Amino acid sequence: PLILGIETSCDETGVGIVRGRTLLANTVSSSMDQHVRFGGVIPEIASRAHLEAFVPTLQEALETAGVTLDDVDAIAVTAGPGLAGALMVGVSAAKALALSTGKPLYGINHLVAHVSVGLLHDGHGDVTRELVDDDGALVQGLGAVLVSGGHTEILRVRDLADDVELLGATIDDAAGEAYDKVARLLGLSYPGGPTIDRAAVDGDPKAFKFPRGLSNAKYMGSAENRGKRRYDFSFSGLKTAVARVVEAHEAEGLEVPVADIAASFQEAVVDVITRKAVLAATENGITTLLLGGGVAANSRLRDLLAERCADHGIRLVVPPLSLCTDNGAMVAALGSRLVSRGVAPTGLAFTADPGLPVTSVSVAEA
Ligand code: ATP
Ligand code: MG
Ligand code: FE
Repeated sequence: PLILGIETSCDETGVGIVRGRTLLANTVSSSMDQHVRFGGVIPEIASRAHLEAFVPTLQEALETAGVTLDDVDAIAVTAGPGLAGALMVGVSAAKALALSTGKPLYGINHLVAHVSVGLLHDGHGDVTRELVDDDGALVQGLGAVLVSGGHTEILRVRDLADDVELLGATIDDAAGEAYDKVARLLGLSYPGGPTIDRAAVDGDPKAFKFPRGLSNAKYMGSAENRGKRRYDFSFSGLKTAVARVVEAHEAEGLEVPVADIAASFQEAVVDVITRKAVLAATENGITTLLLGGGVAANSRLRDLLAERCADHGIRLVVPPLSLCTDNGAMVAALGSRLVSRGVAPTGLAFTADPGLPVTSVSVAEA
C-alpha cells in the first residue's frame, strides 16, 4: 500500500511517503531557526510554522515520490506524544485530507514511529531495512533507545503493531534538553547539542567528574532493582553540577574552561545512556538495539554505544540521521505496518494526545 505520513509533534513539519517498506519521499521543514533567539522551542511559534509549512511540504513530498493524493491508500499522522498545539496542526491537516479524499486515517504514536524507520529501505543502499526479513517478519529481541530534545527512553518492542513496552525514561530533563541547558550555562548557542559536541573536541572528558544520575549501586548494582529506576535517567543533577563549576570559576575571576566542561558533561551523558541501554538490553532479552532521536547525531554517543553493544553481543542499528530526527517517513512506515497487519484505521473522531503512552501504538477513537 501507498502511505502518507504526517509529523508535527515538535519543530519539524514532516511529510513522508512509503510504498510497503520502500521509502519514496521524506520532506522536512524545520522551524528551528525561529526558536534560536529564544533558546528553546516556543510552542506557539512551532504551531504557526507548521501551518505555514504544511502545504508546501506535502506538495514537495508528493512531487518527490511522483504520486498524487489519489494514489495514496491511507494516511497516518502523529497523534502524540508532543506539543499540544503543534500536534493539533498535523492532526487537523490529516483529518481534512482524509475527509476530502475518503482515505482511511491512522493516529499513531511518535515514539513507536521512531523505531519503525528500521523497516524501510530506499533501494539505494542508504536505508537498508534493518529490522525485518524479506517476508516482513520483525527481528526477535528488538529494543530501542530514543534520545532527543523531548525524549530519553528505552523501549522493548515485541510487535510494532501492538506490543511495545517502556523499560526506562528520564524523570526530569531529556538528554537533548540537558545539552541545550548546559550550552546556555557555558555561553554556547542553541541548540546546544551541536555546539557542545564541537566545544568538547578540544576538551578533556576527565577534567571534571560529573554525576551520572540514578546510576549508583542502589539503582544499577543488583538485578533485583528492576522496575526501581534501574533503567531510568536523571539529568538535572548533572546540569546543577555544571552550574556550580561555572559559578565557582566566575566567583574567583577565573576563565571558565568551556572545552573541558563540555567534554566532561558530554562524557557523563553518553556514559549513563550507553550503560543503561546495554543493561536494559542484556536483562530483557534485547539483541538488536535501534538508536533514534536528534542526539543520535552525537559521535561520542554513537562510538561508545557501538563499543558497549559489541562487548555484549548486541546488534546496534543506527538509521541515517535524516531518519533519526523527527520526520514524516517514520510515521508513514508505522502506518504502512499497521495497514499490512490489518489494524483498523482510527477514523476521524480522535484528538491529539500530548502525553500518549508508548503502549498506545495507534490511538482509539473518542
Ligand atoms: P522530539 O523530542 O519530539 O523528538 P526534538 O525536536 O526535541 O523532538 P530532535 O529534533 O530529534 O528532537 O533533536 C533535537 C535535539 O538533539 C536538541 O536537543 C539538540 O541539542 C540535540 N542534538 C543535535 N545534535 C546533537 C549532537 N551532535 N550531540 C548531542 N545532541 C545533539
Ligand atoms: Mg526537532
Ligand atoms: Fe522525536
